[in-house]
Amino acid sequence: MMTGEEYKASLNDGRATYFEGRRVDDIMADKLMAESAEVIAKGYDLLYQPGADARSPLMDIPRSAEELKARLPLLSSVDIVANTTNQSIMTLMTAAGRIGGEHPEYAERIQAWVEDAQARDIRITECITDGKGDRSLSPGKQPDPDAYTRVVERRSDGVVIRGAKLHITGASLGHETMVIPTKAMKPGEEDYAIACAVPVNAPGVKIVNTSYAPRHEDDRVFPVSRQNHMPEGFVIFDDVFVPTERIFLNGEVKHAGQFAHSLGLWERLGGLTFMSNEADELVGFAQLIAEANGLEKVGHVREKISEMIIHATLIRASLEAAIANCTIGENGAAFPSELFTNAGKYQAATQYNLMCRHLHDISGGSVLTAPGISDLENNEVGPLIRKYMSASPNVDGETRIKLFHAIRDLTADAMGGWRYVTNIQAGGGLYAQRIVTRKHYDMENAKRMALHAAKMLPEGEAAE
Ligand SMILES: Cc1cc2nc3c(=O)[nH]c(=O)nc-3n(C[C@H](O)[C@H](O)[C@H](O)COP(=O)(O)OP(=O)(O)OC[C@H]3O[C@@H](n4cnc5c(N)ncnc54)[C@H](O)[C@@H]3O)c2cc1C
Repeated sequence: MMTGEEYKASLNDGRATYFEGRRVDDIMADKLMAESAEVIAKGYDLLYQPGADARSPLMDIPRSAEELKARLPLLSSVDIVANTTNQSIMTLMTAAGRIGGEHPEYAERIQAWVEDAQARDIRITECITDGKGDRSLSPGKQPDPDAYTRVVERRSDGVVIRGAKLHITGASLGHETMVIPTKAMKPGEEDYAIACAVPVNAPGVKIVNTSYAPRHEDDRVFPVSRQNHMPEGFVIFDDVFVPTERIFLNGEVKHAGQFAHSLGLWERLGGLTFMSNEADELVGFAQLIAEANGLEKVGHVREKISEMIIHATLIRASLEAAIANCTIGENGAAFPSELFTNAGKYQAATQYNLMCRHLHDISGGSVLTAPGISDLENNEVGPLIRKYMSASPNVDGETRIKLFHAIRDLTADAMGGWRYVTNIQAGGGLYAQRIVTRKHYDMENAKRMALHAAKMLPEGEAAE
């Protein structure tokens, strides 16, 4: 396995990555990119075990509800790219199980690639979302045929791909990208039915980064995002050669959707896990700031926090239900329940604004205007700020200020905005979760129950 130091050295492999208009040849020499790499390096050190046979627990395949559940604290304790690595492995193994019957050659290549990824202890990012061009048109009908990633040349030893995958979390800081179709494809769209693994430093791969990292001169007022930010990559495949052994689907439109559906499940389970923790965290902030404001016993404040608690509890319950109701696939791997995973992720995302609204309502305007740490250090105004920012005899002014800084950073500044949009979009947007939830919901039983309640169920038929 790799240590954090070895991981950082591995980034120096000639990858073409860009940030704010310039090419970054040495990631560890770029302040913001290096900070994100340090976050991933910490994850490496946390998981490191010596020995040639050691394997990262990120890449173990859970085989029961217990193993699936045991995985969650591990995933919550590591960085987002460790999570995308885990989700990529699970996606490929899920897809291999689904298409392997008809295409054993793809399942074998996936297995071999996953074993190699385990042995090299690499980090993998998920390249799914295409540029997509005109959303009302399918890939084959776009005015620009490159709007969706496609094969532009088939050779005896592999294919050449062209296209762009957008919003790819941590793309510049992983070692390989898992490239899969963003959706199901139709006959005639064979060139778009391509799934493969592409090294980040493959010739023709270019990655443009964006980041919500704080840029302020004194950034101590960003207690969360200062410690943990990850760029998103705009990944361009500018005629990239992919050798045969790295191709997991090549033209079989019938199976193109399997990869995106497989990813959706693992990505949404990851989102649901993150949002379960996030919801409890927001409840905690609401209670702490209510106490710091001296209002924790006031009726309307308690009501709002109760509503937040109910939301947080139901989201966690859906996560528990997704795992308890897992199914075991043919290859022995455990898959969380599609129904509870999608319904939970949907609910967590749609109610996130309510959680933030209550928190901001309870907190007050100092979420945005609390003076900085450097102001507290100024001898002329520091003591006065502490005095006037104190609201409860039990909580000093400085503690209250730091709570405001954390709330702003998490919910009302660059990272807050990132979370707001990401909770909705990550894992494929709300619409996708509605479709999958409906598909897995037992509508026939619901209808039987309605007929039973109306005393309209034919004699001898029972509602479950
Ligand atoms: C911070 C962040 C990180 C992300 N990380 C990753 C990542 O690591 N890997 C990855 O692959 N993706 C990632 N995503 C992408 C995410 O999955 C997409 O943003 C999401 O799937 C929506 O796609 P889009 O952004 O192209 O929006 P659009 O698809 O344009 O959606 C916008 C709206 O239009 C609607 N819409 C779109 N097409 C149609 C249509 N044909 N008919 C009707 N309605 C339509 C959608 O339902 C939605 O309401 C990330 C996104 C964010 C914000």
